[in-house]
Amino acid sequence: MTPSIRLGRIFGIEVGFNWSLIFIFALVTWTLATTVLPVDAPGHGALVYWALAVAGAILFYLCLLAHELSHALVARSNGLKVAGITLWLFGGVSRLEGEAGSARAEALIAGVGPLTSFAVAALAFGLAIATSASALTSDLFSWLTFVNLALGLFNLVPAFPLDGGRLLSSLLWWRSGSRQRGVHNAVRVGRVFAYLMIAAGVLEVFLGQAVSGIWIAFVGWFLLSAGSAEEAGSTIRTFLRRVPVSTAMTSPVVTLPDWVTVQTFLESVAPAHSFTTYPVHEASGELTGVVRLSDLVRMPAGERSTKHLIDVARPIAEVPVTNPREDLAALIQRVGGGIEQRVLVFDDGQLVGIVSPADVARVLTLRQTLGDAPRSSPPEA
Ligand SMILES: [Zn+2]
Repeated sequence: MTPSIRLGRIFGIEVGFNWSLIFIFALVTWTLATTVLPVDAPGHGALVYWALAVAGAILFYLCLLAHELSHALVARSNGLKVAGITLWLFGGVSRLEGEAGSARAEALIAGVGPLTSFAVAALAFGLAIATSASALTSDLFSWLTFVNLALGLFNLVPAFPLDGGRLLSSLLWWRSGSRQRGVHNAVRVGRVFAYLMIAAGVLEVFLGQAVSGIWIAFVGWFLLSAGSAEEAGSTIRTFLRRVPVSTAMTSPVVTLPDWVTVQTFLESVAPAHSFTTYPVHEASGELTGVVRLSDLVRMPAGERSTKHLIDVARPIAEVPVTNPREDLAALIQRVGGGIEQRVLVFDDGQLVGIVSPADVARVLTLRQTLGDAPRSSPPEA
């Protein structure tokens, strides 16, 4: 989840939000303005309710931010890189790079989130009491108390990607000494919870509570697929950890002048090589982009003699780069494993290779077949 809008930095951590957040922002504002506030503190004008509801929705996201920030700060103090925090439809997500070095660190990073939400709930409860002279303000703080309690409790459900899933997995990791077994067993437990949620949702629909039933079942389904993704990701990280990019990259690389026409490329260049991806360069030798054979499939035959490679190339600024020594697991986490993804490998400013998802898949299969996952669990502190 990449942010659409950057908000700024807090404690050096970049915070942004994705546009999908608008839906929940609108829903929260609407619920506060039309239901929560008028029912508990009647007798005010609509404008007052709406103004306070907007303030409430902003506070709601600040509470989410506090939760995510606690994850990010504890992760950073445990040596992980924090790429940033994105607020989106389902709340917040801290984009952490790398993995916790020990079960203890993993437990701390996961556990501090719900703890922060409970602390914020306690603070909101105190403010609700302190402002009890004004029913309206006090009601808003009571609502925030409830929301943060719910946030903390929901996140303790032991299913990925919730904090509870990570807590459970770190506990199982600590007991078994194997990170991967911890994740595997935590995913199995999470699956039971996800199925229970789906069953409860379906039951609610039959009992006439269609909206909340569908919502609960949907969250259950989300947890189910997130668990599978977590396990797949964990397998990839286990087998590709400490495997350098140079093991997977295709090398050497054929680069082409970017002023060659697509026609010439297809008729006389591409058939002579086994590559599917070609970096292109301008007259000075400077790289300008990357052309992939599959990009040309949809081009009308009539345009091939007039279009040049530079017209169809993906601009060089958009192509991710790495070096031969970077960890493959870290690279995948950094750039994602999309099927269309190509990464250029530079060493001392020289282009020395290209990594494609097929290259990574080849190394992964080989490692899995040989069963030589590096001994990944450092001794517990
Ligand atoms: Zn959390």
